[in-house]
Amino acid sequence: MAKHLDGRLLATRYEASLRASIAQHLATAGYPPGLAVVRIGEDPASGVYVRKKAQACGRVGIRSRITHHPATASQQEVLESIRQLNADPSCDGILVQLPIPAHLDARQLLLAVDPAKDVDGLHPLNLGRLMRGEPGLRSCTPAGIMALLAQGCIALEGIRALVIGRSILVGQPMGIMLQQANATVTMAHSRTRDLAHQCRQAELLVVAAGKPGLVRADWVRPGVVVVDVGIHRVPPRQQGERATLCGDVYFAAVEPLASHITPVPGGVGPMTVAMLLWNTVQAWQQRCGGVVRTVLVPLLPH
Ligand code: NAD
Repeated sequence: MAKHLDGRLLATRYEASLRASIAQHLATAGYPPGLAVVRIGEDPASGVYVRKKAQACGRVGIRSRITHHPATASQQEVLESIRQLNADPSCDGILVQLPIPAHLDARQLLLAVDPAKDVDGLHPLNLGRLMRGEPGLRSCTPAGIMALLAQGCIALEGIRALVIGRSILVGQPMGIMLQQANATVTMAHSRTRDLAHQCRQAELLVVAAGKPGLVRADWVRPGVVVVDVGIHRVPPRQQGERATLCGDVYFAAVEPLASHITPVPGGVGPMTVAMLLWNTVQAWQQRCGGVVRTVLVPLLPH
């Protein structure tokens, strides 16, 4: 039976640290950290995520606001609201909630976010800093996974890691972070040949393909560490039942073989939100100059 890498528990600890630090430094800073979420359209999953982020902000003392544009909003309208947030001194972090309607250019919108307020770590400047191993705002999901692996005392030095998925949001930055932790990383994607074979070689699997149940028991080696990034709604099978969530890994079959595994829900998801809070506080700290330098706690090793 695998040990569960408990994202809910670790996120709670992060929240407690951030809450204490914000409270401690609020008077010196003169204002609380502020996060603005730009939402466009009515994607229901985005609505849930935005609400969860706002609730998490409230728990730690970050002032959050949502700028909600209709699905018909033009590129110029959204760009203008990003520019206003860039210039707003009470706003430390800006997040453009993805996905956005197809007629909009996500690249241009992400590029418009002030890199100092880019709490999703998706601006090319922050991605470049990550690539070079320089300090900067890091992508929340892979940063959260690194924290979970540290919490689980997973030794990454020399480990054979396979990252499935190469998106800018998850797979690419994940691969870089693991390499920087001295793992030997293989990247797999939709054109990878014999993915099952690649999986069997891996001592650490990070699965971010967006395909429910992709990784099965006969694909993994015993003792593997499994991080499941995927999140999918499973509709109720009959009336009266509730919808559930599943990941990219066939959990029931893989869990008995793994040494460690992230559950879905309760694994990577809560850590993504925790890292968003972390980044917002980091951006607040930076914008307050030297005043609030001690606000961040180091990643919790245990
Ligand atoms: P994406 O669609 O942008 O990228 C998916 C990647 O997987 C692509 O690089 C593609 O090449 C690869 N892929 C697709 N099918 C494959 C297959 N059969 N075999 C191998 N590779 C395959 O998705 P994303 O934004 O990276 O998200 C991936 C999943 O993670 C989604 O389910 C998403 O909802 C979830 N997600 C969860 C969190 C969280 O906090 N838990 C955060 C971000 C994304």
